[in-house]
Parts: sequence; C-alpha cells; structure tokens
Amino acid sequence: MPELPEVEIAARHLRRWAEGRRIERVTTDPRAARIFRPGSRVAFARALSGARLLRVDRRGKHLLVTLADRRRRPIGLWSHLGMTGKWVLRAWADEEPGHARVRLELDDGHALLYLDPRLFGRQRLVPAADFAALPEVAALGPDPVHDGIDPARLAEGLRATRRPVKVALLDQAILAGVGNIHASESLFAARIDPRCIGRSLSDAQFRTLARAIAASLRRGIESQDGPEIAYVEEPGAENPFRVYARDGERCPRCRREPIRRIVQAQRSTFFCPRCQA
Ligand SMILES: [Zn+2]
Repeated sequence: MPELPEVEIAARHLRRWAEGRRIERVTTDPRAARIFRPGSRVAFARALSGARLLRVDRRGKHLLVTLADRRRRPIGLWSHLGMTGKWVLRAWADEEPGHARVRLELDDGHALLYLDPRLFGRQRLVPAADFAALPEVAALGPDPVHDGIDPARLAEGLRATRRPVKVALLDQAILAGVGNIHASESLFAARIDPRCIGRSLSDAQFRTLARAIAASLRRGIESQDGPEIAYVEEPGAENPFRVYARDGERCPRCRREPIRRIVQAQRSTFFCPRCQA
C-alpha cells in the first residue's frame, strides 16, 4: 500500500519520464469510472489531450501534477494511488500490462500508464491547478520530507486526542504521508507501545518518535528507488520491514518475544510486546 516513500518515488518517476512532454492521446478504462469521480472519464481525457506536463509535486501521499492545456491554461491532475495504484512507463508499442486504467501517450513514443487492480485510487482534474482548493490537500498536516518533523508539534497533535498513538499517527492532519507500515515500524524503533495514548508519552519519547518516523520514511524511499514501485503485499515481493507483516516471527531486537498483530481502527498493527511495553 502506498505511503509517503512510494508516492515520493512516483513523483520522481513522473518528473523524469514526462516533465516537459506533451500528451498526444489519452485513453481510459471504461471499467474504472469510479477512479475519476466526481468527474468523468470523458472529461478527463478531453482536458488532458494535447496538454503539456509542466511539474510534479507531492504532499503527503498526494501527487499534484501541473499541466498546461491545449490553450496553455494551467490545469491540475490530482493523483492518489489508493491501495494498489502505480504509474509505469512503457513504449507505445509495448504490450499493455493488466489493470491499466489510464494511458497517457507522450510525444516521445512512450506512454504513462496508471495501473490499479483494486480501483481505490483517484485521478481528478483540478481547475487552474489550484490544488490548495482541494479539501483533501488543504486538510494535510506538515509533510515529513518537505517540512521536517517538529517533535513539539507532533506531541501537540498526538496529545490532543484519546485515540491510541498508532491510530492517531495515520491521521494525515497530524503528519501527512505516514501510513500503516511506517506507523508500526517507527513505533517499534522508538520502543513505544502502539496502544498507549499521546498524553502518556514524554517529550523525550516524542523526540525519539520524530527521529524514528523520519528514518523509517528515508529507508522506505531508499528501498523503493528502482525502476518501478513494488508493494510488499504483491505476490513474491520481499518484506524489507522489521515488524510489519512479521507476526509470529521472533522480534529482531530482543530475540525473545514473537511479533504480535492486533487490529486497531480496522487496521493491522505489528509490535513487540516486550520491547514496546
Ligand atoms: Zn522485542
């Protein structure tokens, strides 16, 4: 599932593959109407054909693509990868991989393809590329890569809620870009029990947690820095994480307890009951 690192790599890919390029032709998958909501596939294709891709930004898990349309007016593409989305590059003539929902043919003989087997992603046009007007973007808290992680602000956000610290870390208004994997990984690194509430943590623990989140995201970006994003949930994928999806395996730090999986707010949490007590 995409978190900040995968989306950061997607932004770098899109810049390298398509910045400055003109989109010659747009095709969309009729079975994927839901990813364009509340817009339509037809309007999406019409607006982007002939557009030139100017820049690609990322905030949290959101890709913000600025283009100039046929009449050189700015138009935005907000791209959210949902649970299984990814952008890949192919030559026009290449056989199309499965689950291609959007195909943007570029003027250099390549095509950008948006693949999404489960259709939880979103591709939406943003008038005048005014991304700040999107509620999904306006609600985002600080971005750990662009803004850094201020431990005092993190403490303020996590102490203001009665939700367990793992659940609150997924709140994009507190910190934009952290998801299920990096929440579990950084709480493990910081030796914090995912079930505790923010008010029970000390300032020192918040400083450790802020460093742990930054390190976990940095490692995630480094490990994804290949030609194509791979998700840990995909068949045959390696698991590069210390506790995520490792329930039942011995803790890599204390080597005494097995890693436990619990469910918090309908999401899996992985932790060591001994190291994170
Ligand atoms: Zn342990």
